[in-house]
Amino acid sequence: MNAWFGNALVLAGIVAIIVIRAPHGRRSAKTKIADSRKGRLEIGLLTLMWVTMIVLPVVSIASPLLSFADYPLHPISFSIGAASLFAGLYLLYRSHADLGRNWSVSLEIREGHMLVTSGIYERIRHPMYTAIFLQAIAQALLLPNWVAGPSCLLAFFTMFMLRVNLEERMMLEKFGDAYVLYMKRTKRLIPCVW
Ligand code: SAH
Repeated sequence: MNAWFGNALVLAGIVAIIVIRAPHGRRSAKTKIADSRKGRLEIGLLTLMWVTMIVLPVVSIASPLLSFADYPLHPISFSIGAASLFAGLYLLYRSHADLGRNWSVSLEIREGHMLVTSGIYERIRHPMYTAIFLQAIAQALLLPNWVAGPSCLLAFFTMFMLRVNLEERMMLEKFGDAYVLYMKRTKRLIPCVW
């Protein structure tokens, strides 16, 4: 199968992520921060995600720099990758809509921050990370390049492992028993499983 089908979906996915995030980014810039945990680790993790989700795919598609690692695209990879991309984009959209003004790109508590436990947050605590996980799987399957394809999956696991405990500790400090109860009745990424 022609690699351009996969490349085109990856590029469309990047544009969709930017479009979904844009209004939330604008609102978040205007919403006052009450507590920020954006240290060097956070900045490093955000950079890693940005490089592997946007820079490496664009470089591998638009330049010959990574062409030594290209391989043929298989139609089954393409189909599963496309399904994963659309599911990820839907979850990204829903989780931003449900978090509303409480959303931050980093570990931050906003002034008047509310604990969201409904909508997509009813059964899992980190649907936005599930969305990024699905998009990373999509990238690995749609982008037939051994460097740029799986890079985001590795970055996601690094980000998730290093960030999720810090985020939950921050939420526990802010919301106490309400978050303890919420943790008891929910999983992190996949309802009833994980
Ligand atoms: N980990 C969540 C949110 C990612 S955005 C997810 O994957 O869906 C990160 C910010 O969201 C954190 O800084 C925190 O302030 C906020 N946040 C995370 N869970 C929240 C919740 N249940 N209610 C309100 N804010 C939350």
